[in-house]
Amino acid sequence: MTVDRIPPHPARRRGRQPDEIHDIVGIGYGPSNLALAIALSESEAGRSVRARFVERQETFGWHRGMLLPRTTMQVSFLKDLATQRNARSEYSFVNYLTERGRLNEFINHQTFFPTRHEFHDYLEWAAARVDADVSYGTSVVDVDVVDDHFVVTVEGRDAGVLRTRNLVVANGLQARLPNDVQPSRRVFHNHQLLSRLRELPEPTRGRWAVIGAGQSAAEVVEYLHTTYPDAEVHAIFGKYGYSPSDDSPYANRIFDPAAVDDFHGAGPEVRARLMSYHRATNYSAVDLPLIEELYAREYAERVSGRRRLFVRGASRALDIVERGDGVDLRVRHDTSGRVENLRCDAVVCATGFAQMEVGDALGGLADRIVRDPSGPRVGRDYRLELCGDLPGAIYLQGGTEHSHGISASLLSNTAVRAGEIARSLVAGIEQGGAGWEGDERAAARPPRIAAGA
Ligand SMILES: Cc1cc2nc3c(=O)[nH]c(=O)nc-3n(C[C@H](O)[C@H](O)[C@H](O)COP(=O)(O)OP(=O)(O)OC[C@H]3O[C@@H](n4cnc5c(N)ncnc54)[C@H](O)[C@@H]3O)c2cc1C
Repeated sequence: MTVDRIPPHPARRRGRQPDEIHDIVGIGYGPSNLALAIALSESEAGRSVRARFVERQETFGWHRGMLLPRTTMQVSFLKDLATQRNARSEYSFVNYLTERGRLNEFINHQTFFPTRHEFHDYLEWAAARVDADVSYGTSVVDVDVVDDHFVVTVEGRDAGVLRTRNLVVANGLQARLPNDVQPSRRVFHNHQLLSRLRELPEPTRGRWAVIGAGQSAAEVVEYLHTTYPDAEVHAIFGKYGYSPSDDSPYANRIFDPAAVDDFHGAGPEVRARLMSYHRATNYSAVDLPLIEELYAREYAERVSGRRRLFVRGASRALDIVERGDGVDLRVRHDTSGRVENLRCDAVVCATGFAQMEVGDALGGLADRIVRDPSGPRVGRDYRLELCGDLPGAIYLQGGTEHSHGISASLLSNTAVRAGEIARSLVAGIEQGGAGWEGDERAAARPPRIAAGA
């Protein structure tokens, strides 16, 4: 079935104009800014917004290095790019399934959690469908203010400068390696897993080490153990064992749109307490079926006497150094103090991500960010506070866990957040960009984006 699409606004059909001053430039075009482009395209007021997005990757891609077979989404497919904002959206996962001719098969599958491969295909489908002006293969390297607008310097395929009255920063998480680890060809973050494995020669000694106790770490262990059927896989982490992620219904409410209101309205102590209660919904936690699968594999090897999966809890990896065609490391068992030398083909650090650092994207404006002890000060509508006069607003999609709660870097709230930003942006543009209203007045006014934004 093909759904009739809303025609693009004349301003967008007109194509790119040299020296045009855009209403928004979006930094990064992952799911967050894709959801924003969709929210804008689904309303009359939004369609007249002159938006340009800048994306470093050559084509749309969502964490391609971790698109491992058998991995599934950690959020329900209903938390797609649009449904929670506009349940009638043509960009829903259900419409994607319909267009791909798989709706009935998906229903019979009886799951809320599609594979990451399928969700990636959905995101690519949505990116190809929405009428948005995206410069792929192009990176934002600096932002400054000149006269009445921001000037965004970009490098790559569409190198040059872009002029805009507003910015939406959605440049994603930053892969984090342990402090004492030097990245090298054979020592890398799991975010690059598939591309790095492709570049390595055939494993010589058939031994891998994976550091970390979170979902990605366990997925990498499962993948390497399955893909290299003669290789040893050593999982090394400080916890005594993998612990399960809490996706029970009451705990899941922490990802609801209403939880963002609660969190943003709370004081710093309450926010810190809520984060600490609910860390296990997202951090250092693994889906229970995967824990059980790994345990069953290790146990079967104990029975057969042919061990090649070694899950080493209460341990840490020390002195990881690439030498010749392998990596030397020492594994210290925390409780006994025993130390063992291991030589591996590669060491994968599944050691997590740091929140998006907005200062990295803003270059020359970074020192104007107003900061609280917990992080940059951000309004409920995701507007960043900066000192001095500015031509318009800077919105954040990500990097707001300290102000908006645990869903900040996840997909859980993407559709709703995109609608809230779109509404705030349109309200600001209608006032000529400058002289932004406070949140309360903006909230009191009837939203201008009617069709579900
Ligand atoms: C392996 C993995 C699996 C995940 N699975 C889930 C899940 O199941 N459920 C969930 O809720 N969350 C999940 N997440 C969390 C993840 O953050 C979100 O899924 C989602 O990617 C957030 O979208 P985003 O657009 O904010 O950031 P990203 O998807 O990271 O996109 C940011 C984009 O900005 C681009 N960029 C960065 N800097 C620049 C620059 N200077 N100039 C131009 N472009 C730039 C990047 O190339 C990137 O494409 C997962 C994360 C990982 C790493």
